[in-house]
Amino acid sequence: MSLHYDFMTDRPLDDIKVTAHHLYEEPPYDGILVSKVKIEDNKKRLKEVIDKGIHAFLEFEGPIFGDCGAFGYINERTPPFDPADIADYYNSIGFDYGVSVDHLIVPAVDDEKEYRFDITLKNAERFLRRHKEKEYDFVPVGAAQGWNARSYKSAVHELLDMGYEYIAIGGLTRSQTPEVLRVMRAVKEEVGAQKNIGIHLFGVARLNALLELRSLGLTSFDSASHLRRAWLGANSNYITANGQGYAALRVPQSDRSPKAKKIIDTRGISLEELKAYEEACLTLIRSYDRGEAEIDEVLEALLWYDNLMDDSRNHGAHYKRTLTDMPWQKCDCRICKEWGVEVIIFRGNNRNRRRGFHNTRIFYDQFRKLLAEDRTVDMQQRLDGL
Ligand SMILES: [Zn+2]
Repeated sequence: MSLHYDFMTDRPLDDIKVTAHHLYEEPPYDGILVSKVKIEDNKKRLKEVIDKGIHAFLEFEGPIFGDCGAFGYINERTPPFDPADIADYYNSIGFDYGVSVDHLIVPAVDDEKEYRFDITLKNAERFLRRHKEKEYDFVPVGAAQGWNARSYKSAVHELLDMGYEYIAIGGLTRSQTPEVLRVMRAVKEEVGAQKNIGIHLFGVARLNALLELRSLGLTSFDSASHLRRAWLGANSNYITANGQGYAALRVPQSDRSPKAKKIIDTRGISLEELKAYEEACLTLIRSYDRGEAEIDEVLEALLWYDNLMDDSRNHGAHYKRTLTDMPWQKCDCRICKEWGVEVIIFRGNNRNRRRGFHNTRIFYDQFRKLLAEDRTVDMQQRLDGL
């Protein structure tokens, strides 16, 4: 079993575009959200998606949600997409759900908030009209933007009036959970007793509030934060089933990392010398994992290499915690089982992404467990059915 990657040489073994569902028997998500701006930032990818369709491109049979990726044009006056074209685009590549063209309202554009609120609703109207005219099969999702609970409520009111049965709430990714709950309560008031209305939250994955959000009508959400934390931030790149976060151990590639190149150019250190340090770190980490090296040796080598790489953050305490607890040895997901300690080593994109897949798997398992334990909604539905 290769996971399509050789961790020892840091080289992909084939040119398969690997995503988490390729590596686990069961995908660690129920569906995938694909933003148009993400597809378009690579011309080759765009062509492939158009030729194959989105399901074949991702090799994923579950539901695929399309949106425009409003963060990508947050600074523009008007979204760069025409709602009718976007409806055609969702249909042409086979999305199951398609979100109308929205415009984010964030504090930086406070003086434009009403304009952005209006344009989001106008676009939703035109988008739905096109969907009806062309009798498209995908589920149209109306995007709601707002700046407080009341404005979101009024956006949802308009969208329901237009005839939407699935609504996506945007702009709350960076909001605190109490604010998200306030908005969802207002949305719930608007939806009232209508049972067929789906509510999606963009970029909001809050397990601590999941059951409450679900009771307020939340149907779906998306988030890449567990994937991305694998390489963003220094202290919590690897998460565990019991809710702990661990720092990954940084051993940048001497021949590929931009930082290493800078060191070689400016410090008079040769590539061979740098490579020797890198190899020493990797060998020590692997020996430590087998119980054949002492923690202090590994720590010293890692911090020495950090220092050489001009990493000014002090990772000592975090590395020590990771090395002491050895969390990779306790995870039974396929990536950790097959590659063990390799998953905790912070190097190139392919390796770091696999740590992100592990994180996604852990998050999804926690999510599923929470839902399975929550009987209140099922019970309520059963009571309603009587
Ligand atoms: Zn794992």
